[in-house]
Amino acid sequence: MFKESIIVVGGGIAGLTGAAILAKEGYEVTLIEAHTQLGGCAGTFRRGPYIFDVGATQVAGLEIGGIHHRLFNYLDISIPNAKVLDPGCSIDLSDGTKPINLWHDPFRWEKERKEHFPGSEIFWSLCSQIHNSNWAFVDRDPILPVGNLWDLSQLIRAIRPSNLLTGLLSKLTMADLLALSGCQRDKRLRRFLDLQLKLYSQEPANRTAALYGATVLQMAQSPRGLWHLKGSMQILSDSLKKSFLRDGGKLLMGHRVLNIFQDKELSTFNLKVVDKRQKILRLQAPDIVFSLPPQMLLNLVSTNGGLSKTYRECINNLPKPSGAVVFYGALIRSYLPADCPSHIQIFDEQLGSLFISISIEGDQRAPIGMATLIASIFVDINKWSNLDSQSYTNQKKFYLDKILNIINNKFRFSDVTWVHQELSTPRSFERWTGRPGGIVGGLGQHPSQFGPFGLPSRTPLKGLWLCGDSIYPGEGTAGVSQSALMVARQLMETKGRHLNLPVFN
Ligand SMILES: Cc1cc2nc3c(=O)[nH]c(=O)nc-3n(C[C@H](O)[C@H](O)[C@H](O)COP(=O)(O)OP(=O)(O)OC[C@H]3O[C@@H](n4cnc5c(N)ncnc54)[C@H](O)[C@@H]3O)c2cc1C
Repeated sequence: MFKESIIVVGGGIAGLTGAAILAKEGYEVTLIEAHTQLGGCAGTFRRGPYIFDVGATQVAGLEIGGIHHRLFNYLDISIPNAKVLDPGCSIDLSDGTKPINLWHDPFRWEKERKEHFPGSEIFWSLCSQIHNSNWAFVDRDPILPVGNLWDLSQLIRAIRPSNLLTGLLSKLTMADLLALSGCQRDKRLRRFLDLQLKLYSQEPANRTAALYGATVLQMAQSPRGLWHLKGSMQILSDSLKKSFLRDGGKLLMGHRVLNIFQDKELSTFNLKVVDKRQKILRLQAPDIVFSLPPQMLLNLVSTNGGLSKTYRECINNLPKPSGAVVFYGALIRSYLPADCPSHIQIFDEQLGSLFISISIEGDQRAPIGMATLIASIFVDINKWSNLDSQSYTNQKKFYLDKILNIINNKFRFSDVTWVHQELSTPRSFERWTGRPGGIVGGLGQHPSQFGPFGLPSRTPLKGLWLCGDSIYPGEGTAGVSQSALMVARQLMETKGRHLNLPVFN
């Protein structure tokens, strides 16, 4: 048995970011990752000459002052080579009208939305005000929800008068904002919002907190932006890993945490870990940063492990996140339209949102002249659990046919177009990331659940910290990086140290 200062559980973007920050600050950090590859939902896999991003395909926060940019700067590692997406996405409402392009230039986007949603400028202007006020707040690294006086001091430090005004809207949904602006009858605008918000908040407009929805809604426009990484999404993990190892971090790949137990007398946590050869290791540390979905705590901390019944119930009663079904295909590039946007969202009556990401010529995901195409939908994980093998195969085939049908119609492809096709399901995500039932993304950003009302990073067990996509500010590589920074700052404060990253804006 050996003693470690801080153990980080999970090597997705949240765990890697937290581990890299704490190692840079001189702590003795051990990062435990169950898979043989880092990155989790933002990882990649290879099929012959093709590289597919497993889940995340677009990155926010790479612009100057964005969270990835700030962290890479602080960690002293180069900013990955990336291209800003213009449009960030092209949204097809499947109502026979032209797709709506999220242009990077705010004026071009204003012209586009005036054309598509005439009479909605009051709504957009309200969103812009919330967006500007909230981003300035987020950039000052607030702690949410507040757990003690220090958290409160960090929250107050981030607040400006405009936040007090927008704070009055904290119980409203995006649908309420529409009604306030007199746009509630604009069915196209509502469908557009339902589609876009589902991507960022797991919820439609009538269930997404207005403060969250308006903050993420204009993420594709300058001075923010959505970025496409050259190479693959794995570049993010590779860079963070490099920083972590450079600063003396210890990486245990292919090691799965089986149990976490708090020894109250010694004020440490004992971890039971199994490696690829089924050898059991026991590790010990006074602080654990847990970056897996909080639902996994229920399995990893035994009932006598110190988590109160009330806390276990609170975790058990968290809203059930969605699962995802993802199609990974490869095709000859010339089959695609010449000016094809690389990210497209299509509305479908049955599937809801189909989100498509196409590789860009020369981005190293496919040989020149070829392209990869990834298409994902959200699904209810309950419909994928307890299926016998025949029902599972049938269900998979149903979804594959359905997704292919939408794509083939959109691009007028015939079946012979594809040189590679495969489908992942919640079962695949559970295998890849260990997430129970294949849940992906975080908790829905409902007014009762977002920001100040969300699940705290502090747990009832002193020294056990949560980060990742169920913790403020929520899902996405940018969101989970922000949550990891927040936890690193909280943890360091308990040791009498303060970490403040420069704010660029
Ligand atoms: C289909 C899909 C599309 C998405 N698209 C985007 C997008 O375009 N842009 C974007 O920003 N975000 C996107 N996201 C969301 C984004 O990928 C996630 O929010 C983010 O990557 C989550 O990171 P994480 O570190 O919190 O969790 P994870 O990525 O789940 O990482 C957790 C890690 O913990 C490891 N682990 C699990 N159990 C154990 C254990 N017992 N012991 C040790 N290790 C363990 C796992 O192997 C994994 O590596 C998408 C997600 C999906 C599923």
